Amino acid sequence: MNEIKIAVLGSEGVGKSALNVRFLTRRFIGEYASSSECIYRKRVSVDGRQVNLELYDPCSQACEGKSTLNDQIHWADGFIVVYDISNRSSFFTAKAIVHLISELHLGTAKRDADSLIFLVGNKQDLGHMRQVQREEGQCVAAEFHCQFYELSAAEHYHEVALIFSKMVRNTSLG
Ligand code: GDP
Repeated sequence: MNEIKIAVLGSEGVGKSALNVRFLTRRFIGEYASSSECIYRKRVSVDGRQVNLELYDPCSQACEGKSTLNDQIHWADGFIVVYDISNRSSFFTAKAIVHLISELHLGTAKRDADSLIFLVGNKQDLGHMRQVQREEGQCVAAEFHCQFYELSAAEHYHEVALIFSKMVRNTSLG
């Protein structure tokens, strides 16, 4: 059976746990109290095949184990890099992470960034507080040849499920 490892990365507070929990349980949990990293495990079906999915959520900056970004990048097969559209500094962090993944991981990988890195602008429901325009996200995605999505973990279950499913499918092909 295939093993798939996906890391959900980004600054603290961008909604990484919210996205993981939304995908795994279909529910949006407003305050998810976890101060240490965790790996969620789930058996999923991709095109009729069973795969074991491991989802890595660093949860906070102050964590042990796979504590450095380098470790997380080497561990994972695919990456969902998240920023908060209402927080410009989280966008700069996401861009730096995508850059690092491109350098560290894709130098050795056979697959394209396009299928292995998704840049995700979360909290689309906070449009009235927007600090990062959609076009800016698209621009970074074009620069690093990755896929781009904007969504809301709070309001868009189907979009969240879609990007996780796409990533599972892409990584399981590798
Ligand atoms: P993490 O540190 O990246 O794992 O972020 P969390 O998942 O803990 O979320 C941080 C805060 O953002 C929490 O208060 C969440 O309720 C909130 N949040 C997460 N996703 C969304 C979203 O799509 N919309 C809104 N309005 N808030 C969100």
